[in-house]
Amino acid sequence: MSYDFDLFVIGGGSGGIATARRAAEYGAKVGLAENNRLGGTCVNVGCIPKKLMVYTSHFPAQFQESQGYGWSSVKSTLDWSKMITAVNQETQRLNGIYQRMLDNSNVELYRDYGKLLDPHTIEVGNTKVTADKILIAVGGHPVRPNIPGIENTIISDDMFTLAEQPKRLVIWGGGYIGVEFACIYARFGFRCYSNYSSR
Ligand SMILES: Cc1cc2nc3c(=O)[nH]c(=O)nc-3n(C[C@H](O)[C@H](O)[C@H](O)COP(=O)(O)OP(=O)(O)OC[C@H]3O[C@@H](n4cnc5c(N)ncnc54)[C@H](O)[C@@H]3O)c2cc1C
Repeated sequence: MSYDFDLFVIGGGSGGIATARRAAEYGAKVGLAENNRLGGTCVNVGCIPKKLMVYTSHFPAQFQESQGYGWSSVKSTLDWSKMITAVNQETQRLNGIYQRMLDNSNVELYRDYGKLLDPHTIEVGNTKVTADKILIAVGGHPVRPNIPGIENTIISDDMFTLAEQPKRLVIWGGGYIGVEFACIYARFGFRCYSNYSSR
């Protein structure tokens, strides 16, 4: 039985891109579907922009610390929108790098939603393609519970595009994402409350 691809990957995040590139480097004919920005959660709304915010949040303590080594005091305030712009410029730069990496590996990229039709067929936009092996690497996303007032909340994805600096913030969830955002915002000097239930 011949297929369009040896491997077809649904999802262009860390897992999907690494698998697609590696398989192509070994000589497999590989296709990949991504309906959003290349790089997935880590590059666009996860590790990378979060680490840039962690980096930004360290400066006030460093200004303070430097005085112990003879530097005069620094009075500096955060330009929120400049920080958000800088963070997003970097993620856009990385989107381009991921695109080039896929091109250089000869992975055929479909900029569309992939839907599994049967064990060897995927619908990508208006096209149907077949593959010997199909990898589902669609990641996950935050879930908003259906509770009163939920329309007033944001999810972690929104943290990287907030137009205005929040004055106060309550973080619901004490996993690593919640804890890291709590530390970032506390270092920015905002009032930050964290809520979690011990299990
Ligand atoms: C705020 C935050 C901070 C994080 N910080 C860290 C960190 O510091 N260190 C660390 O190791 N991890 C961190 N993570 C976790 C890390 O981002 C994820 O573990 C990783 O991105 C998962 O990769 P993935 O390829 O499985 O999925 P994803 O990166 O989510 O990629 C899935 C991709 O599939 C696409 N997709 C979904 N459905 C379809 C479809 N039907 N057709 C086509 N495309 C589809 C999505 O658009 C997405 O691009 C963080 C996560 C978050 C949210």
